[in-house]
Amino acid sequence: MKSLSQPSLVRTLDDPQPMRVDQAQAFIDRLTDDHSPWAHMEQACVQVQLKDPPQWLARAHLAHDVISPIHVPSHTNSAMDGYAFLMPNSKESLKLKVVGSSSAGHPYLGHVGLGECIKIMTGAVVPEGLNTVVAQEMVRTEGDWIEFPLTHLQAGDNRRHQGEDLPKGGVALKKGQRLNAACLGLLASLGLQSVKVIKPPKVAIFSTGDEIKAVGTPLQEGQIYDSNRPTLAALLNTLGVEVMDLGICPDDPHELEKTFTLARQNAQVIITSAGVSAGERDFTKELLSKMGDVVFWHIAMRPGRPMAVGRLGDTLLFGLPGNPVAVMVTFLAFVRPALLKLMGAKQTGVVRQQAVSLERIRKKPGRTEYQRGVSEVQDNGALTVRLSGSQGSGILSSMVNGNCLVVLPHEQGDVEIGQAVEIWPLEGLI
Ligand code: AMP
Ligand code: MG
Repeated sequence: MKSLSQPSLVRTLDDPQPMRVDQAQAFIDRLTDDHSPWAHMEQACVQVQLKDPPQWLARAHLAHDVISPIHVPSHTNSAMDGYAFLMPNSKESLKLKVVGSSSAGHPYLGHVGLGECIKIMTGAVVPEGLNTVVAQEMVRTEGDWIEFPLTHLQAGDNRRHQGEDLPKGGVALKKGQRLNAACLGLLASLGLQSVKVIKPPKVAIFSTGDEIKAVGTPLQEGQIYDSNRPTLAALLNTLGVEVMDLGICPDDPHELEKTFTLARQNAQVIITSAGVSAGERDFTKELLSKMGDVVFWHIAMRPGRPMAVGRLGDTLLFGLPGNPVAVMVTFLAFVRPALLKLMGAKQTGVVRQQAVSLERIRKKPGRTEYQRGVSEVQDNGALTVRLSGSQGSGILSSMVNGNCLVVLPHEQGDVEIGQAVEIWPLEGLI
């Protein structure tokens, strides 16, 4: 990619026009194309032992097709507790002698002749030569004999074939598949010891600001506790990336340079909060232009607005705003899709729904707004939404009390009662 600060690629803070959200997203999409793991497979992959898997494995993407080394199920087995037998050609009912039994882990090894059957448990091996299982509750027993009608039974019933789920040599999981609980179970059922996955990026985070203090230190006049770092760490944990917490950095050029240097040496992505708004941006801007290729944006959005994006060498940088709700919203709108792409995901968007607004929402055309809402399914099945209280960009409780973001697009004006709006459910995102 060419220099980031080319006018054709970006609008900077110096531009009189703020940058639209969709322009910023498209810019970040191009920027992260260069960092896609699929373009650098050798460096991007890691072999993981399944016996002692890292926690992030349940969200990693497979670097190759997984070929099944065995048939699943490995043997033809019974789908029911009942009796296994060979279906004769034509008869209305059967009377069979029970000559043995097959239970899970204890197959029947003897011979089963015509007119004979074995008792069989769910999952137990169906012996060679038998083709049908009759359910236990369908039969009448008398000593060693069972009797049952054949009216609702066909040859092959209640039997699961060897390789029916997955034949030996078949593709069990496709390259690029995001591993989840079901996939990990499947890999284990194949007896596989290791897989190659895209290694999730290491993400360094730190907060900036002279007024920001870590929990555990008493607050002086004008100081506040750092809420952005715990929020960011938790947001990153939902994705399954590796987090490197570099603490709090004061608004001091030397300290900032030290922290940025440490971060770029150790991580593939850096996420900071605060210090990119007007007033502070000058020395941050100077420092970051010296260290790499970074653009400062004034984004037409609320909450949000100031943001820095770029590269320090090979490390991607996202300088998010300082206000806690703005941090969450800019993370979801810009950083999350970028990180998912770096993790090898093909789909990076969030699930969107349409909901009917229960209230009038004031909205200025010319910026994208992410208001916090409470969505509910009404008795008639309609999805409705109302705002979750005061919408200030520092008011985290609006996020705590909400279950979705109401996303009002750039051109949109006021929303009237009963109008449909786009919402992003927060379940699973935060
Ligand atoms: P700034 O971008 O530095 O102007 O910060 C904007 C607002 O966000 C200010 O009110 C800051 O005090 C607040 N803020 C910045 N960093 C944090 C943080 N880590 N935790 C909570 N609030 C913050
Ligand atoms: Mg500040």
